[in-house]
Amino acid sequence: MSFRSGIGYDSHRLVTGRPLVLGGVEIASERGLAGHSDADALAHALIDALLGAAGLGDIGEHFPDSEERYRDADSLVLLADAVALVRAAGFEPVNVDATIVMERPKLGDARAAMRSRLADALGIAVSDVNVKASTGEGIGFVGRGEGVAVIAIATLRRGQAGEVG
Ligand code: MG
Repeated sequence: MSFRSGIGYDSHRLVTGRPLVLGGVEIASERGLAGHSDADALAHALIDALLGAAGLGDIGEHFPDSEERYRDADSLVLLADAVALVRAAGFEPVNVDATIVMERPKLGDARAAMRSRLADALGIAVSDVNVKASTGEGIGFVGRGEGVAVIAIATLRRGQAGEVG
């Protein structure tokens, strides 16, 4: 059996008047992430990690933010679409891991809900989805509270012969 890995990175600005959605979970916050879709930086980083592992390019190629149909899009739907692309290319997700870097609010209990929602979108077990949280320690755009950054990694295995599309 062969395995492949891919990385993903995304960042979005924190602004007033937007919900804060990460991993498909809305988190109580005075500010949310600016973007064309729901600006779910965790979902976006995971999409790029999956596409990268499968050798399928990046999120901008498959879900361009110039397209009106992606305005305010639910990024978990896009994540599920990315998984379908990965499967069609002959791969199956094995596990994913991500680190959200943001100053506040603290994510706390929301991480369990994120793992559950992401696992559903990815079609893998909750135990195969890990979400970590870190801060900017007051340094840079994250540290100043101007935005959120996420890095992610995904591992894929080649599907069984019968599953390869
Ligand atoms: Mg993004």
